[in-house]
Amino acid sequence: MKLFDTHCHLDAQYFPGGPTEVLDRAKTAGIRAFMVVGVGATLEPARAAVALASSRGDVVAAVGAHPHDAVTLDEAGERELRELGARDAVAAIGEIGLDYHYDHSPREVQRSVFARLVRLARELGKPIVVHTREAADDTLAILDGEGAREVGGIIHCFSEDEKFARRALELGFDLSFSGIVTFKNARSVAAVAASAPVDRIHVETDSPYLAPVPLRGKPCEPAYVVHTARRVAELRKTTIEELAPILWANAERRLRRAFA
Ligand SMILES: [Zn+2]
Ligand SMILES: [Zn+2]
Repeated sequence: MKLFDTHCHLDAQYFPGGPTEVLDRAKTAGIRAFMVVGVGATLEPARAAVALASSRGDVVAAVGAHPHDAVTLDEAGERELRELGARDAVAAIGEIGLDYHYDHSPREVQRSVFARLVRLARELGKPIVVHTREAADDTLAILDGEGAREVGGIIHCFSEDEKFARRALELGFDLSFSGIVTFKNARSVAAVAASAPVDRIHVETDSPYLAPVPLRGKPCEPAYVVHTARRVAELRKTTIEELAPILWANAERRLRRAFA
């Protein structure tokens, strides 16, 4: 069995020992491919994710500007993102989107940066990784209005309801489930994980956050995605052994990559 962690952050601030030991532990647990997301208040995490993905055959990068950091993206940053995003090692543009829960950046700045980076993804012909929190309608309106359907992508760390899921799927976006799906109170997320089309779902850790049950509360790392995959399989009344090859194929198809 092999699994794909479609969304993890391995920045040095989270894993001071460096990414190699974290990825080695994950490999031992059967996680064979990773999308490392490089976002932050500077482009340093994006550069690091691209460097890591360029040096390993089992890692691809996503680069973007998280809605928290939208206010920090200046013209020079956007130029560098375009240059980084064009690299072969970069499989997706993200995570980008809207976060009205924390409002770390003003909402109108979040919307403007999100729209511009959807256009960048279309220009580069790469799928989009979307972060959305308490901003469902605006997120879907921008994806629709900016023609995101042309490249499609992934709604990462899915935490919305069935109505949102339907609209996202129609716009060409897959749904990626994090440790949240293992939490007892996440009923609507579990319902979507149980019923979404099997060829449109993924699993991720979003390391270092949101460790799945039974590791909830610990710092999360890619090795733990196995617990999330097992829970999704259980919700779908199948086994992780049956589901894993489908999830693997879904990630390869969506990210237009093939991994060993
Ligand atoms: Zn996110
Ligand atoms: Zn993330």
